[in-house]
Amino acid sequence: IYTHYDRHFKVDPYLCGMNTKVRVRFAPSPTGGLHLGGVRTVLYNYLFAKKHGGEFIVRIEDTDQTRFVEGAESYIFNCLEWCGLVPDESPIHGGDYGPYRQSERKAMYREYAEKLINDGHAYYAFDTPEELEQMRMNFKTEANPSPQYDGQIRMKMKNSLTLDAGEVKQLIDSGARYVVRIKMPENKTISFTDLIHEEVSFESSLVDDKVLLKADGMPTYHLAVVVDDYLMKITHAFRGEEWLSSAPVHILLWEYLFGLQHMPQWAHLPLILGPNGKLSKRDGAKFGFPVFAMNWTDPKSNELTEGFKEKGFLPEAFLNLLAVLGWNDGTEQEIFSLDELISRFSMDRVHKSGAKFDFEKAKWFNHEWIKKLDAVRLSPLVKNHLALKDIHPADDAFLHTVIDLVKDRCTLIPDFYEQSGYFFKAPGVLDTEAVKPKWTTAKTEFFEAYCVLLQEMSNWDLSSIESTFKQLAADKNIKPGELQLPFRIMLVGGKFGPAVFDIANLIGKDETVSRIKKALSIFNQ
Ligand code: GLU
Repeated sequence: IYTHYDRHFKVDPYLCGMNTKVRVRFAPSPTGGLHLGGVRTVLYNYLFAKKHGGEFIVRIEDTDQTRFVEGAESYIFNCLEWCGLVPDESPIHGGDYGPYRQSERKAMYREYAEKLINDGHAYYAFDTPEELEQMRMNFKTEANPSPQYDGQIRMKMKNSLTLDAGEVKQLIDSGARYVVRIKMPENKTISFTDLIHEEVSFESSLVDDKVLLKADGMPTYHLAVVVDDYLMKITHAFRGEEWLSSAPVHILLWEYLFGLQHMPQWAHLPLILGPNGKLSKRDGAKFGFPVFAMNWTDPKSNELTEGFKEKGFLPEAFLNLLAVLGWNDGTEQEIFSLDELISRFSMDRVHKSGAKFDFEKAKWFNHEWIKKLDAVRLSPLVKNHLALKDIHPADDAFLHTVIDLVKDRCTLIPDFYEQSGYFFKAPGVLDTEAVKPKWTTAKTEFFEAYCVLLQEMSNWDLSSIESTFKQLAADKNIKPGELQLPFRIMLVGGKFGPAVFDIANLIGKDETVSRIKKALSIFNQ
């Protein structure tokens, strides 16, 4: 038997003359930090929804109580807020299709499980964990090292297909623990059109009879995802490729429960690859780059995993780099704002194969965005970072000027401290090694004389500071090039920063003179 489960519209329902409102969902399980692949899934959902004037829903899939982690849900919402990907509906934002936490929908799922049993598509299974273990031992062969609960095995187990109705009733009435399993059909080819992978087929006999309802009465992900996508009127389900192997189970459930009415169009997004295969949290620690959107502290182990935000990434850059990790618009353009992404994004340009994450390239995106954004946008982030170093710029206009002067040299937000800290505080250490080998009495005399001239200057402006310096150098017959490096080290501490006369101009007369004098005493020790 071959069934092709296709959707009545492809990609854009409007182009196909349908006027169904696009509704997409991000359905995280609150089990820990939010991986950048998760944020990319959010982003693609969000872009698609906004492009089609649709709605973006966040549903919390917390039916696995053994994996529940305190604080993980609010962390996810904080990450979305930081990225600016605001849901239209969620447990926090409300909406007409709630509750949006599966644990709060528990009672709803049982009736669907019972319908499946009554229609012969599912059954009660009473096997204990020991019996399941025994089954795995008994049926293990070289060709099949990990036997599954499937069409081959189910008739040898303790379930409502092998027990008679009376025994089943008695077991249930006596409070025996049971699960409900799907009865996978035999020899059926299930195929469907995935928006990224195109035609995908599965042989039903190779898929196990997955648990749908657990002994604690909670649905598993497989049942809950189908029921909720139906009840929440989801039109497109975009999720990570790791869920592709579950698609045949979900599609059959759609057929059995809802006659495929309104089944969403599926798209399974390619994996994000690290240096060795799928990018993992461990790769981050090993190679020194963030993998989570924001800092995450595991409440049990207290282990902190660094986030892109705290590493100094801008949300604009983070979204941009994620968007192009597995998608392009067909041109050479690499820098996209969120609005541009909304208008350019299309599922048919998402790549089929995994996308390799390159941290150097990620930093390049951040650098481009720092250059692109204005000082007013950057200043709260810079201020927060400088505050950590005990620098508290009081004058916003001054801070903005400094940001504009140094931002081209900053890749990550913490670079603003190295690149601009000396505008607010005299450098603690001077790179004397860079000066000493070529230091002369003539140079000391030059700077002493320069201090006098600076103090006499009635107009403190860039051209006077620079021309006085050059004139004095000419008078003393020293090349200005030989004096500029020591001057820079006096003001900044090292061999970096924007034009040295700009720095003197900004820090002011008294500070410039005082730094020169202090440096002279150190150089002449
Ligand atoms: N709860 C699943 C997860 O944590 C969602 C998969 C889906 O979107 O269907 O990834």
